[in-house]
Amino acid sequence: MIAITIDGPSGAGKSTVARAVAKKLDIIYLDTGAIYRALAYSAIGDGVDVTDEAAVGGFLSRVAVDVRYDGGEQRVFCGGRDTTPFIREHKISKAASDISKHVSVRIKMSEIQREIAKNNDVVLDGRDAGTFVLPNAGYKFYLTADVGERARRRFAELKQKNADIQYERVLEDIKQRDYNDSNRPFAPLKKADDAVLIDSTSLTAEQVAESVVKAVTAEKQ
Ligand code: C5P
Repeated sequence: MIAITIDGPSGAGKSTVARAVAKKLDIIYLDTGAIYRALAYSAIGDGVDVTDEAAVGGFLSRVAVDVRYDGGEQRVFCGGRDTTPFIREHKISKAASDISKHVSVRIKMSEIQREIAKNNDVVLDGRDAGTFVLPNAGYKFYLTADVGERARRRFAELKQKNADIQYERVLEDIKQRDYNDSNRPFAPLKKADDAVLIDSTSLTAEQVAESVVKAVTAEKQ
C-alpha cells in the first residue's frame, strides 16, 4: 500500500495539496481534520463540553465514527448522521482544536486512520500523521508557510462565505491553533525527522502538489 503523509500547521494548504496529489495518483485523500471536526460537531450537538476530557471520553464510547467515500468524496458519519455539510464553520474549527487535545480522542482517531491506510493507497493530511499515526509511511512531507500568509489564505477562503470576518481575528485564531497543536503533550504537531520540509509561502498549491508527486514517483522507480 502507498501511504503519503502531509503534516503541518493550519492554513499551510495541506488539504488542497493532498486533494490534488490524490487526484494525480488516483488514490484516496483522507482528510483527518474532517474527522476531528465531525466529532466536535456531534459532541456539541449532544451537549458535550469539548474541553472536558471525561465528558468527551464518555461521548466517544457511545458514538460510532465512520468515514465513507461517495463518488471519491469523503463523508464522515457520527452516530449514523452525515456531518459533512456542517463542519466547516468557524466555531467548529475552534471546537475541533479543543477536542483534539484529549488522548482518548487522538487514539481513536488514529485507529480510524490506520484502518483506512491498511486497506487503501492513501494520502492523508494532518498534524501527527507522519509521527504518530503512520510512522512507517513510505512518503512523508511537512508543509508550512509564513503565519501571515496562512492567515491571508484562510481569510480569503472564509470571506467568500462570511463577509463580516476580520483578518485580525483569523490571524489570532491561526496563532492560537498553532499553539494548541504544537504544545499538546500527546502527539503534537511536529515534523517527523524523515519528512521532507516544504515551505509554501511563495508556492502555489499546484506547484507543491507537483513536487510531492515527483518525489513519490521518482522513489517508486
Ligand atoms: O485541518 P483542520 O483545520 O480541518 O483541523 C481542525 C482541527 O483539528 C485542527 O486545528 C487541529 O487542532 C485538529 N487536528 C488534529 N490532528 C489532525 C487533524 C486535525 O489535531 N490530524
